[in-house]
Amino acid sequence: MAKQIRYLDRNPEPMLEPKERVKTFREYALGYSVSLAVDEAKRCLYCKDAHLRCIKACPVNVDIPGFIKKIAEGDLIGAYRKIVEADPFPSICGRVCPQERQCEGACILYYDTVKGRRNKGLPVSIGALEKFVGDVIRLIGYIEEEKAPSTGKRVALVGAGPASLSCAYDLARWGHEVHVYEALPKAGGVMIYGIPSARLDRSIVDWEVERLKRLGVIFHFGYVIGRTKSLKALLEEYDAVFLGVGAGRGNIGFKGEHLKGVYSAIEVLTRVNLLHAKDFPDKGVPINLGKKTVVVGGGFTAIDCAITALRLGVEVHVVYRRTRETSSAKDEEWDHIMEEGAIIHWLTQPIEIIGDEKGRVVGLKCIKMTLGEPDSSGRPRPVPIEGSEFVIECDSVIFAIGQRANPIAYEGIEGLRLTKWGTVEVDENFYTGVKGLFAGGDVVNGGDTVVRAISHGRKAAKAIHEYLTQEVKT
Ligand code: FAD
Repeated sequence: MAKQIRYLDRNPEPMLEPKERVKTFREYALGYSVSLAVDEAKRCLYCKDAHLRCIKACPVNVDIPGFIKKIAEGDLIGAYRKIVEADPFPSICGRVCPQERQCEGACILYYDTVKGRRNKGLPVSIGALEKFVGDVIRLIGYIEEEKAPSTGKRVALVGAGPASLSCAYDLARWGHEVHVYEALPKAGGVMIYGIPSARLDRSIVDWEVERLKRLGVIFHFGYVIGRTKSLKALLEEYDAVFLGVGAGRGNIGFKGEHLKGVYSAIEVLTRVNLLHAKDFPDKGVPINLGKKTVVVGGGFTAIDCAITALRLGVEVHVVYRRTRETSSAKDEEWDHIMEEGAIIHWLTQPIEIIGDEKGRVVGLKCIKMTLGEPDSSGRPRPVPIEGSEFVIECDSVIFAIGQRANPIAYEGIEGLRLTKWGTVEVDENFYTGVKGLFAGGDVVNGGDTVVRAISHGRKAAKAIHEYLTQEVKT
């Protein structure tokens, strides 16, 4: 029998075949079976210095070898409890975190972060294992979570994205009365209006919201803070307020942006995910991307637009001014969309959207780029190649080039400091400097990851708890 090389022997997560998955908004990553999960868990070396490796690389510092060992021992409830000490939403993070840039990128089988050298193996599939644990617990029911007696303090959280949801989780368990005010009719933020259900099934987010409700969190939907109710009123009514409104304003800003067929990513994703354009004509309102669309961008949002447009039966081209290695999307997701038929134009910068006499999009003029000196982010700066302009004929263009903060909730608040991008300034405790007002997630960092928003939410919860309990003592 051939000798098993465990460090190379990573168990791939079963997937729907590309030709099947492109027809459906059902999740395509099918998850580990029990035997695959236990086998994968046994690949972990349970490094004694994991706090310098995978744990350190995780923005919420999950005890990764700790929970993986529990899986190998068959103690899934123990594994779940270990994860939620740091990350309240394992089923979500297991699905959406860019693990190859975080925990898996620092797995010793693959990369020795202490010695700074590449090893020969493939990392333990930490994300798929986290997802497995979260899914098993979700499917067997609810695990009772401890809750402290009431402190008598009331906190309002604005927005129901991962930053607020994680903040709500801790504050509710610590005995505070938590009220979440959300503009949309559902909780989840980008996890429900942005990320397609093909990557994150909505039942998972709904289950986490139910879990929070069981902890006593009260949700108020359809509240646009700054319109329906003011932030000032919340600050007067509650003992503390957390601002977790994200950065959900779409960006375009290109010549030809007025043409019919030009969309921001957020518009497309919201119309498909929340307004059910994908279910049209049975339900919802349609979205017209024509026969061929060009998605501009190279992050999560661009991938999600490609996934969505492919499932609507549209030919998809993606235009990105950098390379695959320097993109912020998950590496495997580029493979997934290419397997599904997307055509990627690396090192390509759009210059102008071209329209016909009726004002409809007929093409996107682009220029080829080459890599130059590193920019302020340390990534090589893309530089245009003179004379390399070309046109991609298309019926629509979707701009997935980052979101901006939407200040409706907090404009005009005296003493609130904003950055030049309109995001909210906070100190290391996520305190804004306005009495009782804390903030975290994308509204602070302008757009990052779900797990970073969770980390902000939990750190802010700790600071809010201290703020409230110190007030109780005095
Ligand atoms: P959000 O998730 O944006 O939630 C903010 C909430 O506040 C929203 O529900 C909004 O309706 C509400 N709100 C806004 N203004 C008001 C107001 N005035 N009153 C009341 N409510 C208000 N990250 C990953 O880690 N993995 C991924 O795969 C991934 N994919 C992404 C795909 C897309 C399309 C996008 C846009 C982002 C993606 N990200 C991903 C980034 C990640 O989703 C965000 O960093 C994260 O959701 C930020 O969380 P948040 O709670 O700060 O804000």
